Amino acid sequence: MRIGILISFCSIVAWTQESTPPPDPITGMVGQLQLERYKATIKGLTQFGDRRQGTDRNRAAVDWIEAQLKSYGCTNTERVQYDYQPPATPTPPNPANQSQINGPGGSRRRGVRTPDRVNNDPLLQPDLKLRELNSQPSTPGLREEVYCTKVGRTHPEEMYIVAAHMDGIGWGEAANDDGSGTALVMELARIFSGPDVQTERSIRFALWNNEETGLSGARAYVAQRKDLQGKESPAGSGQYPEPKWLGMIQHDMMLFDHGMPRKDGTMSKEQRPEADVNIEYQMTAKLAEDAMHLARRFQLANEKYATDYPANVGPHMTNTDSTPFMDLTPAISLRENERGAQLGNGWDPHHHQPTDVYATFNDDDFRLGLNAAQTTLAAVAELAGCIRGEITTVK
Ligand SMILES: [Zn+2]
Repeated sequence: MRIGILISFCSIVAWTQESTPPPDPITGMVGQLQLERYKATIKGLTQFGDRRQGTDRNRAAVDWIEAQLKSYGCTNTERVQYDYQPPATPTPPNPANQSQINGPGGSRRRGVRTPDRVNNDPLLQPDLKLRELNSQPSTPGLREEVYCTKVGRTHPEEMYIVAAHMDGIGWGEAANDDGSGTALVMELARIFSGPDVQTERSIRFALWNNEETGLSGARAYVAQRKDLQGKESPAGSGQYPEPKWLGMIQHDMMLFDHGMPRKDGTMSKEQRPEADVNIEYQMTAKLAEDAMHLARRFQLANEKYATDYPANVGPHMTNTDSTPFMDLTPAISLRENERGAQLGNGWDPHHHQPTDVYATFNDDDFRLGLNAAQTTLAAVAELAGCIRGEITTVK
């Protein structure tokens, strides 16, 4: 028997062969995503409660995320610093939320609608320890958020941004919103940082803060860094502190797709078998066409590599950290549901509620998030260019 060995920078695999083609290295990387590891990372994030911005528990979570990224081998962590001052007067309600026909982001509402509200009442959290953990209020001032970067071997001056927000609200554990997206990004940072993985282009793994105050952390990043894109610094060093943005991929609420509320307002207790990952772009963005194509690339990567749940594409991306990027680079978001028509109609009863805790979700829920991770990992590996090495044959 002849054994082929593919020396791949994306994974090292051996296979038996006479005439079969070499295995796809991306399959090996996707195989490194494990449900139990993904769950453990979400669980790790929930130790900091709701991680509300401007609190000690939020700062402790940023420290913990950074330590994890370093331990995965994504050692070049950096922080964005910015000042956050809450608005003097509360922002008026979005008129899109009042309409019975049109939903957020230009979406069209259909069917049964239940309220999608933010819980601000600590007494609605029945777990006294968690209520205590979440009790320190937010104070205005300095904020930090962390990212690390997989540096491309042949094109370090260009990158894809893979992101989620690490802060939460609602007096729960922000397990789904957005521990599920943060853990996804962290797991991808771990796998792309493996010693046998090389990519042509760079990939930045970013965990935004202050999403829940109106995308403030992502907006700060865009404001501070958009003009640094593609500049070598110091000159001649081969280093690019802000590689040119090739695309921005946000992950926000990855677990729960139990369908539309029933007419009596109740929900199915189980993940619906036809659950899907919703990939959205915004049709009003300057780069809408490019974003649509990027979304389709993700859908096709899902079809090829994701094990359980399909992906669908929609044009109404909204209320998420990819929005500040969308006129500057192709920007998409991945979610459990469409943000406008579905989440906006109350499809996730745990959204910003005390029930957004780890114990609310079961393996069928967590597996939807894992399938989104498989989708993004595969799509980004293709787009950033996993480099294959020599193929040798051993007799
Ligand atoms: Zn969120």
